Amino acid sequence: MRIVLTLFLTHALLFGAIRHFSIHEMDGKEAGNKLFIIGGIHGDEPGGYFAPALVVQHYTIKKGSLLVVPNLNFDSIVQNRRGIYGDMNRKFDHIDQSDPDFELVTHIKSLITDPSVDFIINLHDGRGFYRTTWESAIFNPRAWGQAYIIDQKTIDDVKFGNLDEVTTLMVEALNQSNLAANHHQFDVKNTYTKDKDEQMRMSLTYYAITHLKPALAIETSKNITELDTKVLYQLLSMEALLNHMGIEFERDFELTLEEVDRLLANYGTMNLNNRFSISLSDARNALHFIPMRKEGNVFEFSHPLGTTIDRGSYHQVMIGNIPVAKLYPQYFSLTCNAKTAKIEVDGHVQTVSFGETVHIKNTFNVLKDEAFRVNLIGFVTKDRDSQDGITVQKSDFISRFSIDRSETAFRAEFYDNGDFCGTITVVFE
Ligand SMILES: [Zn+2]
Repeated sequence: MRIVLTLFLTHALLFGAIRHFSIHEMDGKEAGNKLFIIGGIHGDEPGGYFAPALVVQHYTIKKGSLLVVPNLNFDSIVQNRRGIYGDMNRKFDHIDQSDPDFELVTHIKSLITDPSVDFIINLHDGRGFYRTTWESAIFNPRAWGQAYIIDQKTIDDVKFGNLDEVTTLMVEALNQSNLAANHHQFDVKNTYTKDKDEQMRMSLTYYAITHLKPALAIETSKNITELDTKVLYQLLSMEALLNHMGIEFERDFELTLEEVDRLLANYGTMNLNNRFSISLSDARNALHFIPMRKEGNVFEFSHPLGTTIDRGSYHQVMIGNIPVAKLYPQYFSLTCNAKTAKIEVDGHVQTVSFGETVHIKNTFNVLKDEAFRVNLIGFVTKDRDSQDGITVQKSDFISRFSIDRSETAFRAEFYDNGDFCGTITVVFE
């Protein structure tokens, strides 16, 4: 499995978006064509950002390259809104320097026009189901869902510039695949942007093609409510294009609805200030007295869509638009420089770094160390300042103090002179 750690600092810029997108470069051993995958330009279209998040985590490129930005409009993703600073996909012909999206749009434009990029896809969930003739308010030519959107048929004399042929191949591949319902069939929608669509002239794909970069939008339908289904279609579409471009890849899962569903439920891990880690998939909704700084905390996530929202009294941990856990802080200066502690795990002494997790079969014992005061959260002892030198088993903990809903993971916290040094998470198997 491929895990890319991405760092997010949560200090707000004066006039800009708070969160910058992450960039993931995935190069094969053998040189070849390069596809640029852009997700999350619209924050309320989760199919468009969870699909590239799975690409980053679970694909390996053998030949050719991918450049992946899964979370272009990250501030809007965490709010589950189309665009909290306005529609970002209408800012590519002109954007004021005072626009909060200015830095993001300028940066993504420079990546789009990079000479190494051969093709760009922009991922969306669109309204309704696109049909060439009017069938109903949901199935009609004005809908966007289940379609590959091109601005014109071809870009002459450019490799992969035959956008109509490329998308026709993608339609054939998708409609021959195992669609969850017959009405989920795909089609090509040409907006004839140059002559007919003033709005689309401000879009990302039109910016790309006017800079002679082949580009299209993949739109799954907002009317499909199951996230796994939309993500499956996004991945199938992307793979059809990879095959056409001769980009060779492997993935560590089978491309079925069940497998996509399983992977989407995995939120990965979060590390706080290098002193405390937590597995997020099974985390409790609210975690109290989490030691951290008042400001300048560093949250690191294994999931590309992981971030936090500062709500004042707590930090809301998010995976994309999904609220995962609330961290209620207890403030410390965090000047303690100690990095490790010794723990006897099932009879074997180990040196464990703060922020690490140890797995316990039966018992553990934090060895006595004058440097620390030890607090095992949820383990009650009387008349003791430090809970070290005690052999502890799972039944010694009050289960509601676990950090996970399965009630197997507990915190061993280490303090020095009233300052917090770090947490070792103990998980009973
Ligand atoms: Zn969209």
